[in-house]
Amino acid sequence: MSMQDVIQSLENRYPHQPEFIQAVKEVASSISDAYEANSDYSKFKVFERLTEPDRVISFRVNWEDDEGNIQVNRGWRVQFSNAIGPYKGGLRFHPTVNESVLKFLGFEQIFKNALTGLPMGGAKGGSDFDPKGKSDNEIRRFCYAFIRELYQYIGKDIDVPAGDIGVGGREVSYMFAMYKNLTHEYGGVLTGKGVGFGGSLIRTEATGYGAVYFLENMLSAQNETFTDKRVLISGAGNVALHAAEKALMLDATVLTVSDSQGTLHDPAGFTQEKIDWLKDQKAARKPLKDYVEEFGGEWLAGEKPWQIKGDIAMPCATQNEVDIAEAEQMVANGIKYVVEGANMPLTIAAIDYIREQHVHYAPGKAANAGGVAVSGLEMSQNSVRQYRSFEELDVQLRQIMKNIHDDAARATQHLQAESTPCIDYMAGANIVGFKRAADALVAYGVLN
Ligand code: NDP
Repeated sequence: MSMQDVIQSLENRYPHQPEFIQAVKEVASSISDAYEANSDYSKFKVFERLTEPDRVISFRVNWEDDEGNIQVNRGWRVQFSNAIGPYKGGLRFHPTVNESVLKFLGFEQIFKNALTGLPMGGAKGGSDFDPKGKSDNEIRRFCYAFIRELYQYIGKDIDVPAGDIGVGGREVSYMFAMYKNLTHEYGGVLTGKGVGFGGSLIRTEATGYGAVYFLENMLSAQNETFTDKRVLISGAGNVALHAAEKALMLDATVLTVSDSQGTLHDPAGFTQEKIDWLKDQKAARKPLKDYVEEFGGEWLAGEKPWQIKGDIAMPCATQNEVDIAEAEQMVANGIKYVVEGANMPLTIAAIDYIREQHVHYAPGKAANAGGVAVSGLEMSQNSVRQYRSFEELDVQLRQIMKNIHDDAARATQHLQAESTPCIDYMAGANIVGFKRAADALVAYGVLN
């Protein structure tokens, strides 16, 4: 079967999984040459095997709310591929979670994890549970109930979940506690645990910091620096606020963050004090717009940040948050670099457009791999029962992001068109990640 036939067959089988099909097409668009260059890939049906998860575990989660009512949610774990290491990928709690979203995220995770150079396979999971408006007791009961259903399918050398949207340190700790209780085993079965009971320093900051380290390498490849660069960030969660913090540390001016209610624009730029305030505000689940009373700036209700003039855009909220019209808005407002902190925040049409406009573009699977890279370091620290210092891990994170940048750039060097200064990081990341997983499958023969 050709890659096109595989995609057609996926479309026939999964017409109701648009996000998953979108992610497969995005990868396929850039690996076809590498695929055809190695006849073993088609002989061993590598593309067909890598586009069908090893298994999808789907379950019901019953839990009790504060009024004593029984609530019922759906839960999933998509174990996509353990070709190069234990399944690894986050858990997302959000009402938009469904099998399509988790399959897209799990599929992307195979290549992202391979890019880090660490031995980790790809997976993703979560629930349509909405943490918004829930009490701490309800969150705890839900997390316990969720892991009670999932625990038998995970393990420190089998499948190691982590956080994602709606799942932070608090939720991971509740789930870890239930796992420990059920199995009597204190191991590195989840990453993103609290520091002091198995968690790694810099894991919280890693995705946002890592995305900015990736950007640092992109700028340096163009002989540019952060100084005088205006950065627009969407999202106000873990990734967004740590990206803002690191960009500020490296001398950029960060002008926006946003959430599902609108955009906060501070023309004076965020300072560390302001970012700390934003972290506290979001942690307390209070509105972003209160910022304006505290520090000034403007609140753009229901708007995204791309109407503001800037040099660098970092979409750090969620999938498909930037469509073609918004990509056009970015370019019209001077954006020269787009670095994806979120997973698949640009639609395929938006990606095509900014690339045509010679905007330097870094896909999420490369730029946001810092989070899972430090999760990998958390796994190894747990295995040897030792902790490393923040400084040591920060150096390692920065080096991993440089390696990912350089590997992706090198993979497409021979294709570099003279008409553009842009490095094709999208193709580079897909090719490097794909080859690492594909070569393992070929070596295994018929088994996964
Ligand atoms: P958080 O839950 O901490 O924050 C998500 C942010 O995005 C919030 O500001 C939220 O707004 C906003 N948001 C979520 N959904 C929507 C939506 N449909 N429309 C508008 N805004 C939305 O998540 P993270 O920061 O952890 O994750 C953000 C992205 O980064 C995701 O794509 C995730 O998969 C990806 N990622 C995360 C990693 C990590 O280590 N955390 C690792 C790699 C990728 P509100 O507060 O109003 O809900």
